[in-house]
Amino acid sequence: MDEQAPFDREPQSSLTTRTPDETRAPPTLKAVRRHCLWCCNGSTNEVALCPARRCPLWAMRMGKRPDPADYIDDQTKLYPLEMPMTLGEFAAKGMSTLQAIRRRCIDCSGGSAIEAGTCSVRICDLHPFRFGRNPNRTGIGGSAEAMARIRPQRTLAELPIQASDDENQPETPEDERDPGIAA
Ligand code: SF4
Ligand code: SF4
Repeated sequence: MDEQAPFDREPQSSLTTRTPDETRAPPTLKAVRRHCLWCCNGSTNEVALCPARRCPLWAMRMGKRPDPADYIDDQTKLYPLEMPMTLGEFAAKGMSTLQAIRRRCIDCSGGSAIEAGTCSVRICDLHPFRFGRNPNRTGIGGSAEAMARIRPQRTLAELPIQASDDENQPETPEDERDPGIAA
């Protein structure tokens, strides 16, 4: 297989034959594995022997999460070259599968993030993840920024005591009440 990833043909994704229970996008590593199998005409051997280390999916082509420590010193420049990053730098950032897919899609789209976003090849296994987000997790958790927006801005001590908050407190005996409070 050529060093350049062969994306000059229409992806024939295994999603076209997915079973009825696969209504959701597959797990990201499974999608990568399928994509690599498509890339190698279905040959598991060719995927294993893939020499395209510059492909952002290369380290996870076997469908397994790579150990970043194995690549931390690797100076291989990842595609797309418009987004300069070495394999070692990618490892230092944790080797996110979604980010690898994002890079792969931008590379597939001639280096254009806009083109990747408007990709119409819905049968491609990477299509649901081309924005670098997992649609299976929509509505679950949130970014640090989003969580900061919805987190209470005041501590409990600063919150005013509501009548309902105080209803379990023992009553103050009448002779211990603040004399400034009218009976
Ligand atoms: S890593 Fe996967 S997608 Fe990339 S060139 Fe190799 S087989 Fe193809
Ligand atoms: S989903 Fe990504 S890899 Fe698949 S055809 Fe579209 S841009 Fe290319």
